[in-house]
Amino acid sequence: MNNTLIIGAGGVGNVVAFKCAMNIETFGNITLASRTESKCDAIAKNVKDKFGVDINSAKVDADNIPELVELIKQTKANIVINVALPYQDLTIMDACIECGVDYLDTANYEHPNEAKFEYKEQWARDNNFKEANIMGLLGSGFDPGVTNLFCAYAQKHYFDEIETIDILDCNAGDHGYAFATNFNPEINLREVSANGRYWENGKWIETKPMEIKMVWDYPEIGAKDSYLLYHEEMESLVKHIKGLKRIRFFMTFGESYLTHMKCLENVGMLGIEPIEHNGEKIIPMEFLKTLLPDPATLGERTKGKTNIGVVATGYKDGKKKSIYIYQISDHEECYKEVLSQGVSYTTGVPAMIGAKLMLDKVWYKSGVYNIEQFNPDPFMDELNRQGLPWKVIELKSSDALRLDK
Ligand code: NDP
Repeated sequence: MNNTLIIGAGGVGNVVAFKCAMNIETFGNITLASRTESKCDAIAKNVKDKFGVDINSAKVDADNIPELVELIKQTKANIVINVALPYQDLTIMDACIECGVDYLDTANYEHPNEAKFEYKEQWARDNNFKEANIMGLLGSGFDPGVTNLFCAYAQKHYFDEIETIDILDCNAGDHGYAFATNFNPEINLREVSANGRYWENGKWIETKPMEIKMVWDYPEIGAKDSYLLYHEEMESLVKHIKGLKRIRFFMTFGESYLTHMKCLENVGMLGIEPIEHNGEKIIPMEFLKTLLPDPATLGERTKGKTNIGVVATGYKDGKKKSIYIYQISDHEECYKEVLSQGVSYTTGVPAMIGAKLMLDKVWYKSGVYNIEQFNPDPFMDELNRQGLPWKVIELKSSDALRLDK
């Protein structure tokens, strides 16, 4: 029987725990560990009440490698599913190398003191993973994750060569708060307030935050303002999708969200450097996190849908074509199933699927990989089975659903 260790008991950790329990024949003995053990206990109780499956709780500081090693040994884990924060990626990877245990995460490493995220340091561990004969699967959430897979699927089944990719991420959920973030506020706000960046003809082109906007008509949702952001899956996709000439990422934001964010930024609340307050050092972004609603509590009050997809344009048998592959989730349906809103759901389900394919040895190679490096078909089938059904439609052109042309 397998032993599964999940690290991080936030919104995504909750979904991973539920979904692993719903696939108990693969995941076997499940332990959920986090900095605050009571959060693990609460999730374990909900899983037991709903599905009758027992999950063990544990306390761990995932910044501390010896503590991680002890926990991995004690649980006899076959795999570690890292859904803590991107700051913990390297320590958890290093503990996995030391213990000879497979690793999976949903977000690339981010340095705590610098608003910069990239795969460099994780990819640099490829040889260590190969030497330890273990596998590391990076970015197995939705974006990164399923969006990478949609690109690999398009490449495999629809094109001889893909020229352009636009990733389109729309969350049309309404939680009733004037301002809240759907996942960890620190990670979310750092990502959104940073300069935008896209890749064209072999070069990265930088934009001011929110400088490029378009209006996209999202199926089952409607027209939404969509802003160009830098997003981490582009870093690996430009390496792995051959012949690509341009890749961009757009995310929808409402006016209220952007106005609040601008105001918080202008007064210094998004700062990540310590400041002096009443004789104590505080980090403004951390203080803001304390004030904002915990994303894990948004599920119960969020209504509406998410639609995340990929428009790929290229050539098949000499003819130009565009396709749109997308997935729609309903926040209330997600909550009914696993007591989480759609953003945590769409991240947690692919994390579970990636781990399932690794444990079942459907996707298995020693080394460190991004998910588009594997055959997309088994994962795409699992998405349909595990609660994230997707669609493919042909478009007349790459901007056929763009309304502000
Ligand atoms: P939350 O902030 O809700 O949860 C993070 C959890 O990690 C918390 O329970 C926290 O523990 C735990 N944690 C933080 N630091 C440590 C530590 N040092 N040791 C042990 N546990 C720790 O975040 P989310 O659940 O929203 O996000 C989880 C991950 O998923 C993030 O990496 C995020 O970037 C990623 N993500 C990926 C997406 C994708 O599509 N690929 C989309 C959304 C999120 P405690 O509460 O006990 O302090």
